[in-house]
Amino acid sequence: MELHARHRHAREPVTLMTATQAGVVALTIPQDAVFIGGQWEKVPGESIAVVNPANGAVMGRVPNADAATGARAMAAARTALDDWSARPPAERADFLDALADALEAHGEQLARLASSEIGMPLAESRAVQASLPAKVLRSTAEIARTFAFESRDASGSTITREAVGVVLGITPWNFPVHQIIAKLAPALAAGCTLVLKPAELTPLNAVFIARLCEEVSLPPGVVNLVTGTGAETGEALVRGGGYDLVSFTGSLKIGRHIGAVAGEQVVRATLELGGKSPAVVLDDADLEAAVRTTVKNCFTNAGQKCNAPTRLLVPEARRAEAVAIATEAANAYVLGDPLEDGTTMGPLASPVQRDKVLGFLEAARAEGATVNGGDLVDPNGLFVRPAIVTDVAEDATVVREEVFGPVLVVLGHSGEDDAVRLANDSEYGLSAEVWSGDEARAARLARRIKAGQVRVNGVRTPPLPISPFGGYKRSGLGREMGPFALEEFLEVKAILGDPVPS
Ligand code: NAP
Repeated sequence: MELHARHRHAREPVTLMTATQAGVVALTIPQDAVFIGGQWEKVPGESIAVVNPANGAVMGRVPNADAATGARAMAAARTALDDWSARPPAERADFLDALADALEAHGEQLARLASSEIGMPLAESRAVQASLPAKVLRSTAEIARTFAFESRDASGSTITREAVGVVLGITPWNFPVHQIIAKLAPALAAGCTLVLKPAELTPLNAVFIARLCEEVSLPPGVVNLVTGTGAETGEALVRGGGYDLVSFTGSLKIGRHIGAVAGEQVVRATLELGGKSPAVVLDDADLEAAVRTTVKNCFTNAGQKCNAPTRLLVPEARRAEAVAIATEAANAYVLGDPLEDGTTMGPLASPVQRDKVLGFLEAARAEGATVNGGDLVDPNGLFVRPAIVTDVAEDATVVREEVFGPVLVVLGHSGEDDAVRLANDSEYGLSAEVWSGDEARAARLARRIKAGQVRVNGVRTPPLPISPFGGYKRSGLGREMGPFALEEFLEVKAILGDPVPS
């Protein structure tokens, strides 16, 4: 793949496209520019190099935008709000469908770009960075067309649901396209306008999405993109105000901070935070299938996945067997260039992430755990072999804290009640997986787990991605996907004695 990465003037576009994609017109994306009010702009100050974690190559640059730039983006979103929110929902939905068409037309290019930015194997990237976001756009468009934006309650009052206003969207690096679209689609469907601050590690796919918005002639100011570091650009945006809702996906630590700042301003915050999700395997389950599926779902994107099942809870009597199956499955991973056929695990996203993962493994060993795998493949690189950790106490750091890397902990339970106790013994509650050979038992178990999503016997996200996603406890506030996501971006008004109900 030839990935051009020259640093140029903002209005001089650079093609990020492979020569192998015959028949598809490459989308050109601007270098080192923010997108405000429908214009690409160069901004003063240092820019940030975007580095491919698989090989260290600089792929491009984006501005580290200052507070004044963020304020201009907010103003552009505010200016666009009245017109956008007044349009019929069906018209807004048409834009989402157009965006889905554009995303699909350039899906391979976007998947390759995202794989190169994050290190995700291309097959995974095609599924979650291209195909899934297009489905989310289309399903949200469909929901917006039929949603009851206006209704009457039993007292005769009219209840309207109106756009909450300008949204500040702050997203992480791990599934970057999906996480942006999971905010953009419902926000726009609701009639909100958006200022987006993507992760510092993976901003180029956000530039790509902004280009797609331009491509489909989304009105200027409806989507604005401001790049930069969280500590500077993100902090300035959050503290600068001017938004009516902040929708954040990221770590508990930063989410807590953003929620507090939003609270001071009495502005709504939806927070999609971390997880330490359990996979609960009962004694009547198919152990081999449960363990292999858990390993697969835990190690997607090298384990850098918020809802990864990272705590495998199996009957204690079968723990050794489960560890052997998991270790064999982990050893089968092929680490390498994410764009190469056959690669099943890429690098970790950054040196910080690598050091964090290795630190957790070192601490686990120091606490007496058995760690199978988990070695750094190349002393200067970011490739870490997946690790299976066992013989570890319930309160060990590696059991309690989110590692965000290819680390699966296997714990034994003494029966269903003990399994439920262990599963719920976490400050997080984002997701869970339950396994039983008895459907009624699995259904009962699912209802006992404190998590926003529970998956039974390995089921994955359905082709229609509308089921709510979000956390109990410290995994967050609010939901993404489907009608619940749309409602997060709506304000409710009651009109008593409405003279002309529609
Ligand atoms: P993070 O460090 O919290 O960063 C998330 C975003 O916040 C990034 O854009 C970051 O910018 C920005 N940021 C950092 N400090 C900020 C500040 N003071 N003010 C405003 N913005 C700030 O999280 P991450 O490391 O990117 O992502 C991993 C975390 O996200 C994990 O905990 C994972 O579980 C969670 N996650 C949750 C979900 C979910 O749906 N529940 C989905 C995916 C990931 P920089 O990139 O420049 O630091």
